[in-house]
Amino acid sequence: MSSLDEKFNEETYDLLSRLIQNKCINPPGDEMRSIRTIEDFLKNKGIDCKVFESNKNRGNLVASIPGIDPKAPGLIFGPSHVDVVPVTKPEDWKEDPFGGAIINGEIWGRGALDMLFIVATQVQAFTKLHEEKFKPIGDLILFIVADEEAGGSEGAEWMIKYHSSELGFAERKMFAVTEAGGIQISKNKFVVITGEKGVTWLTLKFKGTPGHGSSPYLSDNAVHKASKAALYLTDYCDKKMPIETTYLKNLVKGLGINFLLRFLISSKRLLPFILKFLGKRDKERSKILHSLSRMTISPNIIQGGTKTNIIASEASLELDIRTLPGQNYDDVVYHIKKALKELSDEVEIVKSLTDEGITSIGTASPIESEFVSAMLRAVQRDFKDACIVPMIASGATDGRFFREKDVDSYGFSLFNPDTPLNDIVNLAHGVDERISLKTVDLSLNVYYNLAKEFLE
Ligand SMILES: [Zn+2]
Repeated sequence: MSSLDEKFNEETYDLLSRLIQNKCINPPGDEMRSIRTIEDFLKNKGIDCKVFESNKNRGNLVASIPGIDPKAPGLIFGPSHVDVVPVTKPEDWKEDPFGGAIINGEIWGRGALDMLFIVATQVQAFTKLHEEKFKPIGDLILFIVADEEAGGSEGAEWMIKYHSSELGFAERKMFAVTEAGGIQISKNKFVVITGEKGVTWLTLKFKGTPGHGSSPYLSDNAVHKASKAALYLTDYCDKKMPIETTYLKNLVKGLGINFLLRFLISSKRLLPFILKFLGKRDKERSKILHSLSRMTISPNIIQGGTKTNIIASEASLELDIRTLPGQNYDDVVYHIKKALKELSDEVEIVKSLTDEGITSIGTASPIESEFVSAMLRAVQRDFKDACIVPMIASGATDGRFFREKDVDSYGFSLFNPDTPLNDIVNLAHGVDERISLKTVDLSLNVYYNLAKEFLE
């Protein structure tokens, strides 16, 4: 079966519109509105589910179809979040950001793309399987959460901490599918997100000796140190940071680009030359190759001094650091100290929280397995010659909480191949966020087909 009933698709659009209209802007989230919408939707179909309140007006939902074999691996639709980021300037939008209107084959509104269309299609695929009395070998679990956009401590992380028994991974191997995959990057090549980089934000603090600004010679100036540190770090990141080509290799192999280029990009020794060469011609692509090949350090805020005629006694430099899967905080500190050379003895390193309140380590799931093959077959039901291109993402998702518990987690949905890549990148968290009905239909199919491929 490759396409589901029209009626089912219509119901999915309607559910998606309602989730947008529920306006679960985080903070504060108030996700219970959407959790109740989904609970009612399931109840109307005769499906039981459990709701777990993590805080006032905040909740998470689990529904499941138990597997025939309690030991067989299971599948989780999720963790899929119903919260959305705020709309800063609604007047810039062409349509009401919380209207959920369908216009020219697209559903408009904040969260349509990130990631309410996945929530709606996973709920509906689950419903369809339930109505068909699908008997999976392993458990099929629907897992809808709050609070992804602010770090997950009242959503996926909270559920894993307090209600992990609902999610099956303690007893058997589980696989999860969530946001950020399924985009066609070249003909018949669909990206599946297999992992993500970690995020660490740090502040470097430097001290100096105050004195008169009229006599700067040989002065001990904190601003001078902070700016020198910014230069040292950038230089280290580009020239001395250890290069890891695993993720590039996976990417270029999946892309099927020619052997010579593949060899050049996959070589730790040659990559710096490629980046230099490419940097002048194709900045965007060289940025991606650079960030997938190493821990990156970006010095983004510098502050210091108190008065124009006083030599600065204090200065600080804030860093956005993105680590590769497997690298931890000690690795970060090691590289910072190494990069800072003579400044490493006097720097004070202070950990800070990101806007989302997180510091996370990078995580990755296997790029080859029975499950990955099942994802491929599910895509091939709609695109016969499709291949999967494994890629790690530079941003954090709830998938990391599952990977830490040995649940293989993937960013997996199925976008209308006609959607321009730029649209997908710019609309999430952006102005005029919307999703095409075709993407909704394809994703609904792909989740339904994945359950059949993996659990039948
Ligand atoms: Zn998201």
